[in-house]
Amino acid sequence: MRILLVAPPGAGKGTQGALIATHFDVPHIATGDLLRDHVARRTPLGLSVQDCLDRGELVSDEIVLDIVRAEVEAAKAEGRGYVLDGMPRNMTQARAIYQIARTLDMTAQVVLHLVADDDELVRRLLARAALEHRSDDTEEVIRRRLAIYQEVTHPIVEWYDQRGILVAVDAMQSVDRVGRQILTALEAMRPLIKLVPDSARQSIDLTGLGKAFGNH
Ligand code: ADP
Repeated sequence: MRILLVAPPGAGKGTQGALIATHFDVPHIATGDLLRDHVARRTPLGLSVQDCLDRGELVSDEIVLDIVRAEVEAAKAEGRGYVLDGMPRNMTQARAIYQIARTLDMTAQVVLHLVADDDELVRRLLARAALEHRSDDTEEVIRRRLAIYQEVTHPIVEWYDQRGILVAVDAMQSVDRVGRQILTALEAMRPLIKLVPDSARQSIDLTGLGKAFGNH
């Protein structure tokens, strides 16, 4: 399975990305984690991006694309798929990752979009800040990250919707519930991926499910 995870900060990309990776036995490629690892090891790349991360700004497309290209190549060498978390974050990255993946015959089969509203996201991120001390989890930087998401990341969702590979899930529910809906939707998508070309598929929108059953 080859999956892109597109979601605002605080929607649960990391947690749900790990769940998907375990379920489908694919590597979890999380660009934020990979960048923070460079910062922690004080590599030249880490030192060059630290300031961007602290301010909640996007790192340059070239840097993240190089990292992701290497990870997707490694996944291909192992004969595995991937769940890519945190990329693409703008239209340039979306086009570039598509080209890279196409040359490797590793294009994404599903784009999973986690939907949540800003107030809930800020609440979650501030709660996490109290526990984890991530350098970008201050209220000001959180607002900046959300603004960047709305401005440059969210518009790419439409592009995937038109390609028929989008699955949208309501992330305003408990972690367990979101996880179950994701796995159910992806399992439902699995036979379609093999049999129906992207262009002939319909996106799946489960965002009404949470409300239908009462969010918790
Ligand atoms: P969040 O989605 O909660 O902001 P991430 O761990 O996905 O957390 O990303 C943290 C930071 O890493 C981002 O604010 C940005 O600075 C950088 N980053 C991660 N992925 C990308 C990307 N694809 N392009 C540019 N910058 C990125």
